Amino acid sequence: MTRLPQYGDGTRVVAAGQPAAVPGQPFLPGPVFAAPYHLGPDAPYGDPENRVPRFYGRNENPTWSAFEAALADLEGGPAIVFPSGMAAAAAVLQTVLRPGDRVVVPSDGYYQVRSLLAEDLPWYDVVTVPTAQVAEWAAGGGLAGAKLVLVETPSNPGLDVCDLAVVTDAAHAAGCLVAVDNTMATPLGQRPLDFGADFSVASDTKALTGHSDLVLGHVACRDAEQAERLRGWRTRSGTVPGPFEVWLAHRSLGTLDLRLHRQAANARALAEALPGHPAVRALRYPGLPDDPAHGLASKQMLRPAGVFVFELADAAAVDGLLSATRLALAATSFGGLHTTVDRRAQWGDAVADGFVRVSCGCEDTADLVADFLAALGSLGSPT
Ligand SMILES: *Cc1c(COP(=O)(O)O)cnc(C)c1O
Repeated sequence: MTRLPQYGDGTRVVAAGQPAAVPGQPFLPGPVFAAPYHLGPDAPYGDPENRVPRFYGRNENPTWSAFEAALADLEGGPAIVFPSGMAAAAAVLQTVLRPGDRVVVPSDGYYQVRSLLAEDLPWYDVVTVPTAQVAEWAAGGGLAGAKLVLVETPSNPGLDVCDLAVVTDAAHAAGCLVAVDNTMATPLGQRPLDFGADFSVASDTKALTGHSDLVLGHVACRDAEQAERLRGWRTRSGTVPGPFEVWLAHRSLGTLDLRLHRQAANARALAEALPGHPAVRALRYPGLPDDPAHGLASKQMLRPAGVFVFELADAAAVDGLLSATRLALAATSFGGLHTTVDRRAQWGDAVADGFVRVSCGCEDTADLVADFLAALGSLGSPT
């Protein structure tokens, strides 16, 4: 498998996980659909020297291995693919924690993580801390007695950022492992393992694959032993991805650099243009110099993401925006080719009714800015 650490992002994603060039063979071999593999005369559990490379589809799949090699290149540590971002997060929680262990999660992060802990894993001692405060809280000794801290930075949906170096130092001093939900940034935008994080967890449903056509996730690890535990968990729990989704994800990865560039350019242009409109309040985009998260984001992120948030007066104003726009689509999720608008209060996030998350797609910047300004103009004066 190709390893190109010395090259730029565009070069690295095009080459990531690609097999050697063999005349007559495809660039990226198609998905391998297999339940059992041929064994031959020797049983797979015999002499380890003669063990067959693959024997059953829940344990191993070459399409997974190629995508995992690509992710390992980009993340800087061994990666394990899971059928969704939540399956990846659940795998980390359940391999690290034992009943009674304390786990710290963001109070303002992806809501299903908190629901999973509350509904299905009630035997952990769960502490929630806001993203903007977790570094200071951890440095002040907050992680004493904790086994795992999960941070999400930038957080979804508020776009707050926490200092990864401070959190990992404090956690490791307290004997606590660190998982970073890196969904928003992708490994081209932030490399949590470089800051000492033990796990980089992501939903690859979002920007990493970016075509709104699959659900997938992964975990990258600093330590090969943790990676083996997660692999074992995947095999025993049966939380395995379908080869076709994994192949589509690998195919989409090659354009990640291009997509992120356009998405961030669109987010920046809209984040600069929209505050001029009287209906727009409380716009946040960490890529803008006056955003409260900008300093920290520029220190630890490699590039900004394509998501920004703002508030309109109420839910009706958001409906008005969505009826008037000709380009933005109403949808949850983010990071795709299409620009989407999501009113987060409808999903139970603790935000104002008129709070919207905008995920910028790959449309032309001038078209998007004109479309949003026209749609906002049709709303009339705010109350
Ligand atoms: C979407 C998302 C998840 C969950 O991922 P799925 O692929 O939908 O299971 C986890 N964390 C963040 C930050 C997300 O945006």
